[in-house]
Amino acid sequence: MTPVFFEATVLRSELLTPGMMRMTFGGEPIRHFLGTGVPDEFVRLFFANPATGRVHLPLATADGRWTYPDGGVDALRFGTYTIRHHRPDVGEIDIDIVIHDGGTASAWAQQAVPGTTITMNQPNGLYALPEDAEWQLLAADATGLPAVARILEETPEHIQSRVFIEVAAADHEQELPFHPLANVTWLHRSGNGVAPSRMADVVRSMPLPATPGYIWAAGEQRVVRAIRKFVRQELTLKPERYQLVGYWTHNNEDWKERWNAVPQAVKDAIDASFSSGRDVETVRDEYYATLEKYGL
Ligand SMILES: Cc1cc2nc3c(=O)[nH]c(=O)nc-3n(C[C@H](O)[C@H](O)[C@H](O)COP(=O)(O)OP(=O)(O)OC[C@H]3O[C@@H](n4cnc5c(N)ncnc54)[C@H](O)[C@@H]3O)c2cc1C
Repeated sequence: MTPVFFEATVLRSELLTPGMMRMTFGGEPIRHFLGTGVPDEFVRLFFANPATGRVHLPLATADGRWTYPDGGVDALRFGTYTIRHHRPDVGEIDIDIVIHDGGTASAWAQQAVPGTTITMNQPNGLYALPEDAEWQLLAADATGLPAVARILEETPEHIQSRVFIEVAAADHEQELPFHPLANVTWLHRSGNGVAPSRMADVVRSMPLPATPGYIWAAGEQRVVRAIRKFVRQELTLKPERYQLVGYWTHNNEDWKERWNAVPQAVKDAIDASFSSGRDVETVRDEYYATLEKYGL
């Protein structure tokens, strides 16, 4: 059995497009890698903290939550990445990493050579297509592209998919796995930190079938939040009908500064809400409203 945290070894890397690096990992622990079978499954890659020169890890409790006995949460340096392929027969996984300005993970991917090791954890997945679904709407920027590709690969034949992907430039498009009922639209020079995102408007303007379906979106957190508002407040979909995940934060440094300025009482109230046992989606709505109030 693979431990919670383990070392993976870079076997090779390949530039898929000017904006995406494919890293292939192997080594003994990957031979025992246990995929979840959920197509948007993701792992954390843990990097050394430049201030201490070493990797700090959380402690995973039995219920899967993290505590931070080694230097506190601020000592951790990690990035979250989707498992694009798992080849158990040869003990390999692929992770596709967006190349962007700044960023520990992006810089690491560009300089890692075969033999470089990295600490990662066990995967987790979120996508859950309801059994009665007849269609799905998938919306993502480049960070969600690996998950979209895998979702399409694993989508049952009878499901209609409407897919929107925004990329920094036309040559960042990738060939997606073929699905007979998938209709894919690429948005060029949209979002991804290079231009305002058009994704929320596109999703809003999309006529949706009256039959049961599912909406999955991943990308910059404010963009996904706008989609969430539409899905929750206008479409009034039940939580099992959507999965909307903020994958990254544009201008993260500015976000962190603003977050640090949020009064402690407000942060305590957020923590209390999340452990209150109230409906988690309602608590999330309140949390996002608070973020908006503070310009986050
Ligand atoms: C469940 C999940 C799955 C994910 N899967 C993938 C995946 O398969 N592939 C992937 O590439 N990413 C994926 N991401 C997103 C990835 O974790 C973030 O982009 C992460 O912030 C990158 O870390 P970094 O160290 O490179 O940059 P950070 O140190 O986080 O940020 C440094 C600077 O870069 C900016 N930045 C961060 N990400 C981007 C970006 N994508 N484009 C432009 N600017 C950026 C930040 O705003 C900041 O200014 C996933 C995230 C989640 C939550």
